[in-house]
Amino acid sequence: MPNSKKKRSVTSFGEFLKDKRQSLKDGGMSEEEVIQILLSEFKKLSEEEKEKYEERAKESRRILQQRQRNKREAEFQKRRDPFEVIQETFVQDITDMGDKFTSKTDVMMTKFYLINFQILCHMEEAHESHQTGHIPLEIGLLEFTLKDGITNQYHQFVKLEDIPYGISSYALAHSEIHKIPILPCKFGTSNYEKITEKIMNMVQSKDMIFTLASNEFWDFRSVQNSLNWIFQQVNQENLGNLKELARLFQFLITFAEPHLKPSVQDCIFKLSDSKYEYKPDTYCYYHCEIDTIHCALGSVRRWAYSLFETLCPLYGCEITKNHILIA
Ligand SMILES: [Zn+2]
Repeated sequence: MPNSKKKRSVTSFGEFLKDKRQSLKDGGMSEEEVIQILLSEFKKLSEEEKEKYEERAKESRRILQQRQRNKREAEFQKRRDPFEVIQETFVQDITDMGDKFTSKTDVMMTKFYLINFQILCHMEEAHESHQTGHIPLEIGLLEFTLKDGITNQYHQFVKLEDIPYGISSYALAHSEIHKIPILPCKFGTSNYEKITEKIMNMVQSKDMIFTLASNEFWDFRSVQNSLNWIFQQVNQENLGNLKELARLFQFLITFAEPHLKPSVQDCIFKLSDSKYEYKPDTYCYYHCEIDTIHCALGSVRRWAYSLFETLCPLYGCEITKNHILIA
């Protein structure tokens, strides 16, 4: 693998950080200063010493994966059926939507919004941290109508002013998965005011923002929490509760063709369709280069493509290159 070396140094550095951080922190340095100093120290280590940290990193990854598995299982046990929870929360919203539309033309002209985030980490996952929630790293937001396709989009990397104490090594592991370097963060903005402003300006109806809860409710919560996090940074009122995309999809199919009644699982399956993965222009400029499916913009575009493919024919809309950029 061409990037195995880089990969190795990132996680083993997390272990190195665990060893050395506290004494520097006690000296009164900020987390960011500590990381900068230790990063250059780490680079000077012998191959043998690095190997030792790599071994520990492997073990940490194993423990982290096991903990995530246990947690997911526990979440699943708690809920008899994750879709039931989604249903309770969102079925009312989607029923209300029926009142909004009087005709297929109404639906065709309506502006819908799709949002997704890549996150830095689940705060609960970092056992040293007492904080909860999800910190966003990358935002993807799309506006579309069935008639005109994708009419607007917003993509932004989020730069943290400081990595919250106690989560550095977890943040590194996530950064590696999502291929978004955070040490130092080369791109992104920490102007949260501007980010929230952009989102507010773009989204014309808070009732029309959707995200996909794929196979677990967890994904949905991380998107909602990331959105909340951004707005909390500027003490702004949030956009409110996101709605579940698979249910919108189901609603819109049945609205157009009452005899078609796909299950929510069918809709999730269709929306998670991977056929647009790895094609150029689906991902943001950065993720396009480094070839990964973990891109916030890529996922909202893929959802939109899947929606268009099914819904445009049902609503009599032509699929143009504004609908599917890569057509
Ligand atoms: Zn991206």
